[in-house]
Amino acid sequence: MMSRSTDVAVIGGGAIGAAITYYLAKENIDAILVEKGDIAHGTTSKCDGNVLVHDKIPGFDSRLAKLSQDLFPEITNEIDYDFNWVQKGSLLIIESEEELEAAAKFCQSMKEEGLPVRILDQYEVHQDEPKLAKDIIGGLETQCDGSLDPMALAYGLVHGAKKLGAQIDTYNAVKNIQVNSLKKDFKIISERGEINAKRIVNAAGVWTPEIGKMVGLDIPILPRQGQILVAERTVPVARRKVVEFGYLMAKFEGGNYKRNVTPEMEKYGIAFVFEPTHADNFLIGSSRQFVGMNTFCDIEVLKALAQRARRFFPVIGDINIITSYAGLRPYTPDHLPIISETEIPDFYVASGHEGDGIGLSLITGKLITQMICSKTLDIDIERIRLNRFNSKNRNVN
Ligand SMILES: Cc1cc2nc3c(=O)[nH]c(=O)nc-3n(C[C@H](O)[C@H](O)[C@H](O)COP(=O)(O)OP(=O)(O)OC[C@H]3O[C@@H](n4cnc5c(N)ncnc54)[C@H](O)[C@@H]3O)c2cc1C
Repeated sequence: MMSRSTDVAVIGGGAIGAAITYYLAKENIDAILVEKGDIAHGTTSKCDGNVLVHDKIPGFDSRLAKLSQDLFPEITNEIDYDFNWVQKGSLLIIESEEELEAAAKFCQSMKEEGLPVRILDQYEVHQDEPKLAKDIIGGLETQCDGSLDPMALAYGLVHGAKKLGAQIDTYNAVKNIQVNSLKKDFKIISERGEINAKRIVNAAGVWTPEIGKMVGLDIPILPRQGQILVAERTVPVARRKVVEFGYLMAKFEGGNYKRNVTPEMEKYGIAFVFEPTHADNFLIGSSRQFVGMNTFCDIEVLKALAQRARRFFPVIGDINIITSYAGLRPYTPDHLPIISETEIPDFYVASGHEGDGIGLSLITGKLITQMICSKTLDIDIERIRLNRFNSKNRNVN
């Protein structure tokens, strides 16, 4: 069996692990990325590619997202790999006076955070997207939002990391981890041999708790399934990302606001998300359900998704759906990621990004690298430490 040594082993080759490996390599840190399948084997190949601030709570949440968003134009120039980054902004569509009122307040808080947002009235929103249902009464535009191809992002970051000297170990599942407190290192037992690592970053998405258990850490991440419809290539329906404003209510489960949706839509947590792709087709999302590690699509959920899409863009009723897929969002109880040191010295967690792991990938990679290099962090990580969930871990970091 092969045995190797490294400064940092990153476990998981999704958007998060790829970004961490890239930023480590950029700092000349010796790193191995260990992935049980191919790159983007997990949720990173079963999601949308939106890089948004519009769906974040103004404050820490939106600041973290904006820091990450601002890194994408920079990284496209650095890695010499086209991942279809476009920054056309996004549009939240508003169905009722009650939503309009909430959107105006939300818009004001976003403006106070310095974000480029504005409310569109009924005339403006239909000028902006002429195929919208006639009864949509307004919109909220976030000009800085962007989108990309998530698999290409992961591949591009790995490509960049490799060029800077990182080792990429695909098809090599981590089976166990031994902690050697005397030698202050770890022994990773993997399918293809042993890796001695001074530090480990657990970036295994919905499998993060499994890796955590190997060193005795309890990490509260659950898989939250989302299903997506893929339409055929067609004339443009909308020119950029369009989301129902009620999406924010669905995402945060808060408030007393009730959308005008069917019981099925409510049950499956459906919120309309439209994303045009570079191939001239579009994606329709998405649902939110706790169904374990199940990645099968359910025809009833797909029907409800299609029905919701037709409510906002009636023309979608004339367009064929060519396929569908389901992915598992790494969910945490407070909807914030875990980007953190842990009670195990030199063992880090970078996971739990739920529906934001593509958008937050770059800032995650940067923050973990800053921690490892003992550099000043771009943002205070108090809110995203692992110990916020567990009294056992409290006051350790
Ligand atoms: C329907 C849907 C839509 C979404 N839309 C968006 C969006 O528009 N924008 C956005 O920002 N986010 C979106 N997300 C969320 C985003 O996809 C995730 O947050 C992100 O992909 C998580 O990346 P990750 O690297 O943490 O996990 P993953 O991509 O799952 O990577 C983890 C990796 O760890 C590997 N692994 C697991 N166990 C082991 C082991 N024992 N040994 C070695 N390797 C292991 C897995 O094979 C996997 O490749 C969406 C998610 C879904 C489901």
